[in-house]
Amino acid sequence: MHLESTGFVLRTYPLRESDRIVVLFSRAEGKVRGVAPRAAASRRRFGGALSVLGEVEFSYREKEGQDLGRLEWCRVLAPTPGEGRDLDAFYVSQYMAEILEQMGREREADEHLYRLTRACAGALAQGLTATAVARYFEVWTLRLGGLLPDLAACAACGRDLAKTGAALLPGEEAVCAGCRGLNPAACTLPGEAVALVRRMLARPPAEVVQPDPTPDHLAAVARMAAAQFLHVTERPFRTAAMVAVGHREAAKVAPGRER
Ligand SMILES: [Zn+2]
Repeated sequence: MHLESTGFVLRTYPLRESDRIVVLFSRAEGKVRGVAPRAAASRRRFGGALSVLGEVEFSYREKEGQDLGRLEWCRVLAPTPGEGRDLDAFYVSQYMAEILEQMGREREADEHLYRLTRACAGALAQGLTATAVARYFEVWTLRLGGLLPDLAACAACGRDLAKTGAALLPGEEAVCAGCRGLNPAACTLPGEAVALVRRMLARPPAEVVQPDPTPDHLAAVARMAAAQFLHVTERPFRTAAMVAVGHREAAKVAPGRER
């Protein structure tokens, strides 16, 4: 099989000597992994193109019956968002790549997820608030994976969840706190955070994160997303802790402090 496509680099790790294994989320075939021979040495074929969440154009070839093909070359289309200048954007890039590696399907194109990734990487590169972009990416990845409950109205009493707030249990329909009753396992999402999630589902990243949502609402969305993901991944994302929940960025713009 020969594949030429664009893709996002999700991860690379050493195989032997200077060869590396590269995991890509490709537009044409979903997740693909292949060997990049002499990746470190060959600037001509891979020069600078293997950094996490960089978007690349690549050529991949595999022989019949082989499950690990060969990456022939890679060319950078867009570098890792924030690399070398914006640490928050850089961390969120690592986090998005980990989510894609866990949630993306092997050898199955997912145009919606690809476009979501491109939109969020673009938003990070433009300098939009990184934690808000992370939340946007989580909400949409859950939605595309069928893991986000319908947050329009309480499934039990029909009240508007943006007014009552939601009490969520992974894998179950969303209900209001009153209908959930006392359940320490439930994750609560205040009404404003429900409204924020709905806004994320209706608009592109730039329109949702400007003006910035409050750190509290972003943190509530982060907790909700973590609980929903954990239900399927069974362990937390390794890079999640690298992504601040909004407070660091809030501090950056506090009065009297330089941005
Ligand atoms: Zn209810």
